[in-house]
Amino acid sequence: MVDGFELRVSERKGEGVFATRSFKAGEIVMVGVIEKRLKKNHSHASQIGENEYVFHAGSISKVNHSCDPNCGIRINETGAHDFVAIREISVDEEITFDYAMRNYGVDYFPKECMCGSEICRGKVTGWKDLPEARKKIYEGFVAPYLIEMDAKYCAEQT
Ligand SMILES: [Zn+2]
Repeated sequence: MVDGFELRVSERKGEGVFATRSFKAGEIVMVGVIEKRLKKNHSHASQIGENEYVFHAGSISKVNHSCDPNCGIRINETGAHDFVAIREISVDEEITFDYAMRNYGVDYFPKECMCGSEICRGKVTGWKDLPEARKKIYEGFVAPYLIEMDAKYCAEQT
């Protein structure tokens, strides 16, 4: 199967991953493959569990954040993150996801968000600081451990 995406360099944002064909909502855009499991967090790591971090192989680690992303995350059978289209994606559109779909906290995020979307939050936040309304919109497209952590911390507070 030919990949439907490629790495490109743009002047404004540096490296990004762009669609080379269109995708329908619900289609898998990029298949996640775990390259290496890590003992702790790292600026290029993906969080896949409360205390589990990995490096994904290939271009998946180059996908930029957006506060209005066209992709979400679904765990595949290897435990890696597939990127799934939330809405239709057209050719040459940049593939984006919300870092909050993957990371509970914000250890390594840049302070200012550069996504340029109309609903930009201004700052890149993790799942824990994401507004409730956004969490609803992302339902089914975020790493499942985030939901588990929400439940766990809510239970501890009451
Ligand atoms: Zn933004």
